[in-house]
Amino acid sequence: MAKRDYYEVLGVEKNADSNAVKKAYRKIAMKYHPDKNPGDSKAEEKFKEAAEAYEVLSDADKKARYDRFGHAGVSGNGGFGGGRTVEDIFSQFGDIFGDGGSPFESFFGGGGGGSRTRTRGQKGSNLRIKVSLTLQEVESGVTKKIKVKKQVTCKTCNGSGAKDSSSQKTCGTCSGSGYVRQVRSTFLGHMQTTTACPTCNGSGQVITANCNTCKGEGRNYESETLEIDIPAGVEDGMQLSMRGKGNAGKNGGPAGDLLISIEVKEDEQLARDGQNIIYDLFLNFADAALGTSAEVPTLSGNVKIKIPAGTQAGKILRLRGKGLPSVQDYGKGDQLIHVNLWTPKNLTNEERELMERMREMPNFNPSPGKSEKGFFEKMKDYFK
Ligand SMILES: [Zn+2]
Ligand SMILES: [Zn+2]
Repeated sequence: MAKRDYYEVLGVEKNADSNAVKKAYRKIAMKYHPDKNPGDSKAEEKFKEAAEAYEVLSDADKKARYDRFGHAGVSGNGGFGGGRTVEDIFSQFGDIFGDGGSPFESFFGGGGGGSRTRTRGQKGSNLRIKVSLTLQEVESGVTKKIKVKKQVTCKTCNGSGAKDSSSQKTCGTCSGSGYVRQVRSTFLGHMQTTTACPTCNGSGQVITANCNTCKGEGRNYESETLEIDIPAGVEDGMQLSMRGKGNAGKNGGPAGDLLISIEVKEDEQLARDGQNIIYDLFLNFADAALGTSAEVPTLSGNVKIKIPAGTQAGKILRLRGKGLPSVQDYGKGDQLIHVNLWTPKNLTNEERELMERMREMPNFNPSPGKSEKGFFEKMKDYFK
């Protein structure tokens, strides 16, 4: 029989994201689940067909090959022959059913809270850390080495929790499968459900003597130095996550994630406005009138800029590309230099006399509207 198109099987569009694919698969898997359709070989076929489609479409690499070459691009890959059993599907995709609160979990009805993968165990908790960055580090991106205390898989027992190989036995209740079947009466009639084995908590193994190092937990607290790559352009308050870098799982369960909160320290001289950097430059009146050159700090060191004669207070000078990159896009922001005039406060007698003479001179008095833009016009330029 010719294979159906995988997108058709899951009922998703070609451009569906991984979340949509997962959701669609879950829905179909629930509908055609063998426990819900006992003895119905058609349902079982649909269940397997959906699992096969999911395996390809949930994997970016396989999906790309499927998109280009169709079924030929992905066959013979990953052991997907005809002979897969329902149990194989569970051991491969168990996690999709297991992560808390999905409707599938309640359908399994365990109360033991478990998916049916054989090598279960409990997922590790997420680990949260805060990383503090300077604006310079935001500009370049940075690798931070951070020492954390976290739960790691016990090295003595390799996470099994058992003292040695002779202190680990196949569970008698479930014969090592990790789950037990139950027939329950519901308003739909008899329904066969599967729950995590209560004796071994789904691991399929029972331990007769605990590992001395971890006391049977399968994990220990240890200090570890994590290397964290922070991309350029991140913002204060952003959260990055690294899958599987959190606390180790219990009894061989998967590790939690590492969640990294970004904090950007304030700079003494430079302020951030999105991708732009703002710098306040103060000039004395003579420099603004006569023109000068000024040293201006930027994220990549000081630069010298020319101040033309007759520069007005409030002028905005722009250093192109001296701002910040964006996490998503190419290109960089600018550095904007706000020109301020420094007004002297404590004048000597000599300075006071000079100022009084200046006040009388015609060119020292403003003539707004003729040659200079006011604040309003300048802001229009700024946002252009
Ligand atoms: Zn068991
Ligand atoms: Zn141990």
